[in-house]
Amino acid sequence: MNALSELTAAERDRILAKTARFNPPPPVLADGRRELIGLTREEITASLAEIGEPAFRTKQIWHWVYHQGVTDFTRMSSIAKPLQAKLAEHFIIGRPEAAMVQTSSDETRKFLFRFRDGQEAETVYIPDPVADRGAVCISSQVGCTLSCKFCHTGTQTLVRNLGAAEIVGQFMAARDSYGEWPSPRGETPRLLSTIVLMGMGEPLYNYDNVARAMRIAMDGEGIGLSRRRITLSTSGVVPMMDRCGDELAVNLAISLHAVTDELRDDIVPLNRKYPIKELIAACRRYPAASNARRITFEYVMLKGVNDSTAEAHELVRLIAGIPAKVNLIPFNPWPGSKYETSTPAAIDAFAKIVMDAGFSSPVRTPRGRDILAACGQLRTESAKAGRQS
Ligand code: SAH
Ligand code: SF4
Repeated sequence: MNALSELTAAERDRILAKTARFNPPPPVLADGRRELIGLTREEITASLAEIGEPAFRTKQIWHWVYHQGVTDFTRMSSIAKPLQAKLAEHFIIGRPEAAMVQTSSDETRKFLFRFRDGQEAETVYIPDPVADRGAVCISSQVGCTLSCKFCHTGTQTLVRNLGAAEIVGQFMAARDSYGEWPSPRGETPRLLSTIVLMGMGEPLYNYDNVARAMRIAMDGEGIGLSRRRITLSTSGVVPMMDRCGDELAVNLAISLHAVTDELRDDIVPLNRKYPIKELIAACRRYPAASNARRITFEYVMLKGVNDSTAEAHELVRLIAGIPAKVNLIPFNPWPGSKYETSTPAAIDAFAKIVMDAGFSSPVRTPRGRDILAACGQLRTESAKAGRQS
């Protein structure tokens, strides 16, 4: 191991130890029943052994839970009734409770999910405007430790990490809402066809739970999403990026938002720890990136802050040679935010420079504006309503 990778490994261990303190309570009910969702196959097998049941049951249970999407043991028709009853004594198949569901006029559907301890996080289904499918944007934490200046979640402190069951459970509950069970096989069309980890929180500061949840989502005998259909967005936790690429090989999105350390230090404060040069180097070595699976650079367009043509030129210089696309996101304002959205002309001029340099540069159309789609806003509204009642 060379000096650099030793350093990275030490830093990674430090991050994991620090973030583990925010882990959720164990997924066990007061009556001792254990949540099945979120367990690995090996853990299910071990739990079954504890109640005297053989390992082959794991495959059956997995199929019912993740392929058929059942939440009730009595629907597991390949399992005899006495065993169904025994399983129900020891396990539950939970879902987060939908505390609020709003569907926007553009078909964006936003969920506020409440977990067993009363904490809440947001999930959004964003339909693809041209095809009959869409992405489910899921949260990885309640709140966030980072405080990016333009982000509403950044105004909330970190309450806790979400557990694996809560992370994959958001996707499963969204599927319930669209009746998309059993899991379609292969390329069968489905509405909820992609996961983007772009909701509340920093997924690489909750790596273990996120990894567990994504492995479940990718399991071919269950939900069966291909790794190409999962995108993890990070504000740039450099030491965890390599690990994510090696172990999960999902698509990566980087919240870049600025092309100089001076500005990025201010609007994405994590930059003070992992500056642009280190971040871009980590992107260059991201193992899962290729021309078919480009890294997405997210760039929120803030009027007069980061949207000049000079910055567009600097951006293409920075990412030259990386298989990449650039997502320009018009800033989504929230009450109390101090930024404004760039003008359409500024966004177009910026996009043109990026495109002329050979990068695809879609401008993300604002979705669900009428239902407070700025990430983190729904939870705040819910907390306010709770205080008033
Ligand atoms: N913490 C991760 C993932 C969640 S944020 C990250 O920062 O990447 C998902 C994306 O939404 C990020 O690119 C984030 O910078 C962007 N974002 C946050 N608040 C926004 C706002 N008000 N308007 C537009 N984009 C925003
Ligand atoms: Fe956290 Fe991402 Fe928001 Fe930054 S942009 S505060 S990392 S959720």
